[in-house]
Amino acid sequence: MTTDDRDSRSGPPRTNRPVVPPIVQSATFEAASIAELRRQVGGNTFYARHGNPTVAHAERLIAQLEGASHAVAFGSGMAAVSTTLLTLLQAGDHVVAQREVYGATFDLVVHWLPRLGVQVTLVDATSPEQFADATQAHTKVIYLESPTNPTLRIVDLRRVVGAARRHGVVTVMDNTFASPINQRPHELGVDVVVHSATKYLSGHSDILAGAVTASEAIAARIREARVCWGGALDPHAAWLLIRGLHTLSLRVARQNASALRIAEFLSGDRRVERVHYPFHPSHPQYALARSQMSGGGGVLSFELRGDADRTRRFVEGLRRFALAPSLGGVESLVTVPAYSSHAAMSAAERERAAVSDQLVRMAVGVEPVEDLVADIRQALDAATG
Ligand SMILES: *Cc1c(COP(=O)(O)O)cnc(C)c1O
Repeated sequence: MTTDDRDSRSGPPRTNRPVVPPIVQSATFEAASIAELRRQVGGNTFYARHGNPTVAHAERLIAQLEGASHAVAFGSGMAAVSTTLLTLLQAGDHVVAQREVYGATFDLVVHWLPRLGVQVTLVDATSPEQFADATQAHTKVIYLESPTNPTLRIVDLRRVVGAARRHGVVTVMDNTFASPINQRPHELGVDVVVHSATKYLSGHSDILAGAVTASEAIAARIREARVCWGGALDPHAAWLLIRGLHTLSLRVARQNASALRIAEFLSGDRRVERVHYPFHPSHPQYALARSQMSGGGGVLSFELRGDADRTRRFVEGLRRFALAPSLGGVESLVTVPAYSSHAAMSAAERERAAVSDQLVRMAVGVEPVEDLVADIRQALDAATG
């Protein structure tokens, strides 16, 4: 019997099989018998809110990237964040979260969790002491995000995680901004890592997706909660996510280099007041960033000198940067956080978060970097004329 003969009985032939696994775009799966149906309940070939082979493939790849044993995929980053926190917390528990987290996460922590009887203390992301001081006997979760949006502040992960471990508190960290190419939180002791896979992991701004990586025990609880809360990932989006993951390291390497080049250009221009980029030596936490990240990432922000109108003219004058929220895609994007991600805040809250009307955030894509620099130069010239 040849290899092909054998394979033709048990599945597709080894020869000429597709290099790219086909999408299993099916919401439900047929069993040959009651016994088989009972074996499949809750697995990846039962009903797609529980699992699906294409989604499971994406989960395996993400677990590998984060160096975790298990991953659970979601239909969006916020489905991943909310399902994780609702799994780990219950009424009477306390959570310590840094003040600077993604906008919708902030809403979840500050408005929704207290409605469910969970107490919340917000602390300064850059102060490990505040995390430790805020931790109480009923603290169950410490919630982290680093670098922060939009000022790219860095959380001292080793110190915060060390203190959390001593108190037996679970750490949850949003690793979206760094991506697992630049930062691997599990290696620094973080228990649960969450992602908006809408950003770097998928990388093409064409799907919404989320992911959580954790130990088998925690991942199993989160997977069970996903069945109930319903934030499952669609197989087609999972298939696009898998395609994106194949080029993640290439894209992020390019974005790291381009963002650093742009940060250097901007810091040398007298029309720019201040540049925020973790791998630029002017960053106040440069050494810390270098000690826990292997690349600075594709996002940077900076403040222009002059008034808000000059900032508006600059941003509208850019031709290679689309004026759009989000990050992590192959196209370069630009936003003014005061008018987008931080628009719901009061002026005082924005000031506290160091989000001025002159703060510009760029999410660098994979275009030739000198084209991007030339575009920034012409927009600066036009705006400051
Ligand atoms: C975009 C984003 C989210 C939310 O993800 P969605 O996929 O939009 O739901 C969460 N955290 C961070 C840091 C993000 O950038």
